[in-house]
Amino acid sequence: MEFDVIVLGAGAAGMMCAAVAGRRGRRVLLVEHAARLGEKIRVSGGGRCNFTNLHCRPEAFLSRNPHFCRSALARYTPRDFTALVERHGIRYHEKTLGQLFCDDSAAQIIAMLKGECDAARARWAMPAKVERVTRHAGGDTPDFEVATTQGSFRARALVVATGGLSIPKIGATPLGYRLAEQFGLPVVAPKPALVPLAAAPEWLAQFGELSGSSFDAIASCAEAPRGAEWPPFHEAALITHRGLSGPAILQVSSYWQFGGGRGPIALDLLPGHDAGAWLAAHRRDQQALAALLTEFLPRRFAHSFAAAHGWTQPVAQLSNTVLETVAQTLKGWCIQPSGTLGYAKAEVTLGGVNTGALSQQTLEARSVPGLYFIGEVVDVTGWLGGYNFQWAWASGYAAGSAA
Ligand SMILES: Cc1cc2nc3c(=O)[nH]c(=O)nc-3n(C[C@H](O)[C@H](O)[C@H](O)COP(=O)(O)OP(=O)(O)OC[C@H]3O[C@@H](n4cnc5c(N)ncnc54)[C@H](O)[C@@H]3O)c2cc1C
Repeated sequence: MEFDVIVLGAGAAGMMCAAVAGRRGRRVLLVEHAARLGEKIRVSGGGRCNFTNLHCRPEAFLSRNPHFCRSALARYTPRDFTALVERHGIRYHEKTLGQLFCDDSAAQIIAMLKGECDAARARWAMPAKVERVTRHAGGDTPDFEVATTQGSFRARALVVATGGLSIPKIGATPLGYRLAEQFGLPVVAPKPALVPLAAAPEWLAQFGELSGSSFDAIASCAEAPRGAEWPPFHEAALITHRGLSGPAILQVSSYWQFGGGRGPIALDLLPGHDAGAWLAAHRRDQQALAALLTEFLPRRFAHSFAAAHGWTQPVAQLSNTVLETVAQTLKGWCIQPSGTLGYAKAEVTLGGVNTGALSQQTLEARSVPGLYFIGEVVDVTGWLGGYNFQWAWASGYAAGSAA
């Protein structure tokens, strides 16, 4: 069967692209291998889908080319997506830090996107496994042939929207990277990102039993490369039985991975406070440091933290030098991750199709007319908080407007 556009992967980016291209009169086919539609959307945001972020900006994305995402993000904004959500009567709210969530269920976003695709008369091959993709060059226009378990389909344009590698058990596959390689496009090595960090056994021996303890912190990579402006993240951190998690840690994990997974991360345990001045104000306290720390930290954590460093005496008995070290450690507690918990626990995949091979405006491969890559399969990775969906919508819109 013949189409104008075949979209591989009916996730966030693929459905947006199909709906936009279909509305332009293109005959669109969506090819999806999963039996259920939009699994990642369904599990996102704890089942309520954090579908965008009001503060979306290019600086909130990691890529070898930090400017690549600008054009697509400018042409399809969070306001455009919320307008769509409102047209479908989906109620939503801002939770924190500009993060917009459905009031009721992520299933509403899936139904909305499916409805948009149907209204645009997109056709579906689902569930269909992709067996082979071939490009027949030489005619008036390039022609892609996609062989699937539901038959063979041809189209002038092929949009690859098969996502990243995170959470393989809900359908992630490396097809997008394989196709990039097949067509000679470079791929930045994929890595798990927005992912909990693992800690070494010695660290776990001291802190692992605090699993479940969460505290307010500012997390950063302690050794960002020279000249790199890597932001600190002020959110909750969580101790787990394997290491560290929580929003602040997930955010910083992407930068840690981006830098090659080396060096320690640093936690400011007293955000917004001058630790030196605070300790000086308590210089004559007869209580143990751990008890004092409970002003800011959970009790069990405060005790383990003080004990692990050997600061067990009453504050009044600690020397000025020790108190200086305490202040420094509270403002920059360095922890060396031993790795990450991998794709099984990662929200996204860092890396992907090298943006240098794609048009910023349309996401079309420069060297292969008619071939597009959108969404997470591209080397553009957003912060936690709705940024990754906004990239999926915006890149889907860009390709859907051109293909
Ligand atoms: C647990 C979890 C929670 C998340 N929460 C949020 C959140 O709240 N906010 C946010 O912004 N981001 C969130 N994300 C990230 C977000 O889900 C992704 O960045 C986004 O879905 C990427 O869109 P995509 O269309 O590129 O890929 P996907 O949405 O992953 O879609 C890819 C589609 O391609 C299909 N596919 C894969 N391989 C093949 C193949 N070989 N043949 C055919 N089809 C194939 C898949 O089945 C899937 O339907 C979360 C991710 C996870 C894992």
